[in-house]
Amino acid sequence: MPKKIPKIENNVQDRTSVAWKKLCEYVEQVAEKELTKFSPRSYLGPALFQQIFTLPESIGKLKKVRQIDLYGSKLKRIPPEIGEMESLEGFDPYTSYDLNWFPYEITKCQKLIESRISTRALFGNYKNRMPFPSLENNPVRYQGERVKCSICEKELPYKETQQYWISLRIGTDTVPLLANLCSKECRKEMPTPPEAYVQYPHKGGSNLQQPGFEDWRKAQMAKMPKKLLDQISHYKKLDDLRRLKEKLESGELDN
Ligand SMILES: [Zn+2]
Repeated sequence: MPKKIPKIENNVQDRTSVAWKKLCEYVEQVAEKELTKFSPRSYLGPALFQQIFTLPESIGKLKKVRQIDLYGSKLKRIPPEIGEMESLEGFDPYTSYDLNWFPYEITKCQKLIESRISTRALFGNYKNRMPFPSLENNPVRYQGERVKCSICEKELPYKETQQYWISLRIGTDTVPLLANLCSKECRKEMPTPPEAYVQYPHKGGSNLQQPGFEDWRKAQMAKMPKKLLDQISHYKKLDDLRRLKEKLESGELDN
């Protein structure tokens, strides 16, 4: 049976709520005090933090933040302004099971080396290959009427951009990214995804063929040093011998 294709949900956040106002206030404080850690849960408390489904665009002001802690959040998306957080080194949204994708702009955080992401929840992950929603007609809306090209940063109305998915390495994980592109030239600027992921920017939907788990496993094996592979096949042989011995002992081979 084909897997159900999820839909993109826009307007995920009630921006009049106490939780949201407090979060915006926290962002201002972190920016002003030039703090290096951004941990909204500890400022809002767990109850209000559960009412946060995206982050304010003002996170772009957090130029000194090196670590984002979003453990156990209910977040559904991250705004593209995360790409302006130029000091970001560590990104931890672990167990945020509603975060199925990230904005392409996160690739602009050049110092980002460490991530802890629940990859099972991601579109196209190697474990269950969750289908990608269709991006025909640019269904993803961020805050505001215009959007920047994810590559050249030219500002455009949504109808003049093309939205694409691409899976790339972020920190220590391979994650699905949403890009808004102004032109074919900008599409060509995109890097090639790692092996065993769709190898080009695509629009998702029911016709998309994704590699399987076996392709991912082979790609991992190809990366292993030869010595390690030899060791594995050695143990495999031992395992075969052990099973043969068991069969002999149980009399299974006598028939
Ligand atoms: Zn562009």
